[in-house]
Amino acid sequence: MSDGFFDEGDLVGVMTTQPLDRVLDYKAPEGGCWHGAFVEVPLGPRKVLGVVWGKGRGDFDRSKIRSVIRVLDVAPMAPDMRDFLERAATYTLTPMPAMLRLATRAPGLGDAPSMRKVYRPGDAAPDRMTTAREKVLGVLRDYGGLAFTLGELAEMAGVSGSVVKGLVKQGTVREEDAPRDTPYPRLDPDHGGKTLTEAQERAAAALRAGIASGRYGTTLLKGVTGSGKTEVYLEAVAETLRAGRQALVLLPEIALTEQFLTRIEARFGMKPAEWHSGVTMTERRRCWKMVGQGACQVVVGARSALFLPFRDLGLIVVDEEHDTSYKQEDGVLYNARDMAVLRASLTGGQVVLASATPSLESWANAEAGKYARLDLTDRFGAAVMPDMAAIDMRLEDLPGGKWISPSLKREVDARIARGEQALLFLNRRGYAPVTICRACGHQIGCDHCDATMVEHRFLKRLMCHQCGETRPMPSVCPSCEAEDRLAPVGPGVERLEEEARALWPDARVVVLSSDLFGSARALKEAIEGIASGDADIIIGTQLVAKGHNFPKLTLVGVIDADLGLQGSDLRAAERTFQLLRQVAGRAGRAEVPGVALLQTFQPEHPVIRAILGGDEEAFWTAEAAEREAAGVPPYGRMAGIILSSPEAQAVFDLGAEMARNDAPLRRIGAQVFGPAPAPIARIRGRHRVRLLVKADKAAPLQQALAQWADQFRLKGDLRMAIDIDPQSFY
Ligand code: ADP
Ligand code: ZN
Repeated sequence: MSDGFFDEGDLVGVMTTQPLDRVLDYKAPEGGCWHGAFVEVPLGPRKVLGVVWGKGRGDFDRSKIRSVIRVLDVAPMAPDMRDFLERAATYTLTPMPAMLRLATRAPGLGDAPSMRKVYRPGDAAPDRMTTAREKVLGVLRDYGGLAFTLGELAEMAGVSGSVVKGLVKQGTVREEDAPRDTPYPRLDPDHGGKTLTEAQERAAAALRAGIASGRYGTTLLKGVTGSGKTEVYLEAVAETLRAGRQALVLLPEIALTEQFLTRIEARFGMKPAEWHSGVTMTERRRCWKMVGQGACQVVVGARSALFLPFRDLGLIVVDEEHDTSYKQEDGVLYNARDMAVLRASLTGGQVVLASATPSLESWANAEAGKYARLDLTDRFGAAVMPDMAAIDMRLEDLPGGKWISPSLKREVDARIARGEQALLFLNRRGYAPVTICRACGHQIGCDHCDATMVEHRFLKRLMCHQCGETRPMPSVCPSCEAEDRLAPVGPGVERLEEEARALWPDARVVVLSSDLFGSARALKEAIEGIASGDADIIIGTQLVAKGHNFPKLTLVGVIDADLGLQGSDLRAAERTFQLLRQVAGRAGRAEVPGVALLQTFQPEHPVIRAILGGDEEAFWTAEAAEREAAGVPPYGRMAGIILSSPEAQAVFDLGAEMARNDAPLRRIGAQVFGPAPAPIARIRGRHRVRLLVKADKAAPLQQALAQWADQFRLKGDLRMAIDIDPQSFY
């Protein structure tokens, strides 16, 4: 081997995507292969995907070692990517093969590039000119020389595909075969920048300097919604493009991507690549390959985009960095925000964490000087942060089964009269969270989970929000069989809609809740409709908190501001603070000032007071002090262990055994709590038991956890999941 190249017959170690706990030895194939090459290797009777991870170990009978079948026609995995996957695996206690699967989530990586038809200008003049034909030729002229697919060309020209086909017959447009996985169009960093305000320019200059340094650094970019955070970090993207490096922008919600792509196109002249579950398989493969070849400059995507094989990643933006969707909650349990920082530190890249309400982790890292911090305090243009006030529900005269207080009603009336929009926020899907029998008191629960069934009147069914199980709404009580005595308890958005329609029969009411839309497209259309003024009253779950821009919205009414404060979750206060600030930030994005009203039974609660007072630093300081005193994240380290099995006794026995044999943890001064039934003690028929491990910030927690967990055999259908830095405690 020389310079990372293995000659034919050399022993190579291959990491495969199969659940094996070691790298396997193979012989390099004919023509040799690079360190990092993606290869197909024989494993028993199968062919599997792997990566050449280094030299072979040579501890196996050489005559039995098989050859690599072939080297795939994709760029080899770069050393920093291998390093990243190994460290991410160590951090999250994930086996390497599972990590490698995350990094190869594109179909047909090994396939020869297939062909598709593309269209370019031809030589012949058409027999006659029409406006439609003129449009097609106009697009081809404007983008001189670029090849388009039929769909792209027709869409850009605003004509049907048959117009293009007609021109092909005339020889005016040429149809050619081209490989499918083509480079993405170049983005122009100087295409359409806005003139920044002084404060924005200062922040942009700091980010540009970070990019220019060519070194790792993380910056918390904090600014109220509408202050121009996006404009500012797009300047960092521009600087990255100028430096010839790649940029990744992570968004918390697929529904936001479309709007964002348009914005990138306006700023840089072309659309970037997209990576999320809604992207077609061919487009995914193209993105994966081009990113690896450096033929894709900017990717906009969901958290899994972090595992794309970027050749030279200079910038990662994590927009709405506090958003809980960045934590992957099944399979490999990782937090994309933390992994972004890890990856950038290995590639010499910059990270920008943008948020109006940062996570306490990021806030504390900035306080400690580990992250730089930039603040944008004013909204751009005329828009100002809404006024906020509490509605003290103890003083409101409201009949049972109703949730819109007279005070809130008056405010909504005023908005409707002025042709403005009001948003009623309630973070509860469905009609009613609980259905109770008035005869015997029975609450209808899920058969497979420890959860109540939520009534969804829209679907005419009861649904378990844990496992998704649904069943028709019964007319008799499943327990005492009394007829017609089942009654809804508590509000969901559907029930709130009913109340709103009764209060404002002439108003246009729209409900925005993820389960009411069959597709991302339908949801997007509803959002666009609202933005253009097709609604007077919007009723929404937390879906509305995420970055949509509704210019006519001037009132936000939070139906139950106390809802998030009741959980036992360590982050309950932080989450409530973030969510309510974000929702309140929806009001008054344009010229008309906004108002946010919080219905609460506890106006003196410190979180409610902090939200109303707008004194964010005071909130974070107080919250940080409490966490520090308790030794919990971000001032201490935690890991959650969830054991599950169809057998209740088996999980408890294992939990107790683990708690008793905790020597590896005690050695690093860590404590084990539990076993205790998880807050949701049964999901999909599996009983769940939790243990919680707490350690000092500096303790080598992962190593100790691995040693500890290795002592126990998982018999039968027992499963163990270890969650480092758990975000939710269900
Ligand atoms: P944030 O990301 O903080 O919510 P945005 O960057 O989306 O803020 O800015 C809010 C709105 O104000 C956007 O429509 C944006 O285009 C506009 N805007 C912000 N700064 C400027 C500027 N300097 N010039 C023109 N428009 C701006
Ligand atoms: Zn269930």
